[in-house]
Amino acid sequence: MGRRKPLGSRFVASDLNFNTIDSTVASKEGETVKLRQARTEPIGRIARIQNDFSRRRRRIQLHIKNPKKRAKKLKETRGRQRNRIRDALQKLSAEQVRENPGASFVFERLTRIRENDNAKSKKLRTYLNRWPYRMYQSMVEYKSTFRTVYVSPGGTSSRCPVCGGKVRHPAWAVSRCEKCGADYGRDRLSSLEILLRGMRLCGQPFAVSADASWRLMRDEYLYAPAVPDGWRAGWTEAANAPNGNVYENIHS
Ligand SMILES: [Zn+2]
Repeated sequence: MGRRKPLGSRFVASDLNFNTIDSTVASKEGETVKLRQARTEPIGRIARIQNDFSRRRRRIQLHIKNPKKRAKKLKETRGRQRNRIRDALQKLSAEQVRENPGASFVFERLTRIRENDNAKSKKLRTYLNRWPYRMYQSMVEYKSTFRTVYVSPGGTSSRCPVCGGKVRHPAWAVSRCEKCGADYGRDRLSSLEILLRGMRLCGQPFAVSADASWRLMRDEYLYAPAVPDGWRAGWTEAANAPNGNVYENIHS
């Protein structure tokens, strides 16, 4: 384990999605924490590797009749997929750490979800089968100079940052507040929620609705129908197709 790393002076709270990493960036100012930025980074390259290998496996299933030969081919393919994904995640995590100097990363703790059938978030379970988020988190944690904060995973609803009303997160990209009717981009709002949970955990609570930086930032969280590539992507049929449990043993 070694010595515990110190907290950074900045926080990057990320919601990990199939095609994007949605983050809220905040920084410490004395005793308070100010929101700085909300962003959506496309990570389609990971999804492409997964889809590519899914297709390859299907082709092998279809065309190789000999069961022994087929099993061998499938095993080889799995190994190659693991290596490709590991390389891609090494690159991605290195980029994230390099581009966010001084930052503590905040993630949802994902380890238990797979075992928990009653997990609140179907979304998270779907993701877990698609790309190895946990591995990505470990790589970031390892490379970062500062402490990585893990918060408990959220449910299917959270609080509206404006009025405190209940916000539902459907499978679709819009999260609507039941009280004031504000429409938020689901994934960015999730990253804000992850940040808030992380700050509470670190003993630096702050009320978003009372915070001046939130007022400046608010538009960045509102749902925008005309959006760049990658924002809403990821919920195609291909994205939800089973990809096999190739990562089950990746950490063992
Ligand atoms: Zn509201």
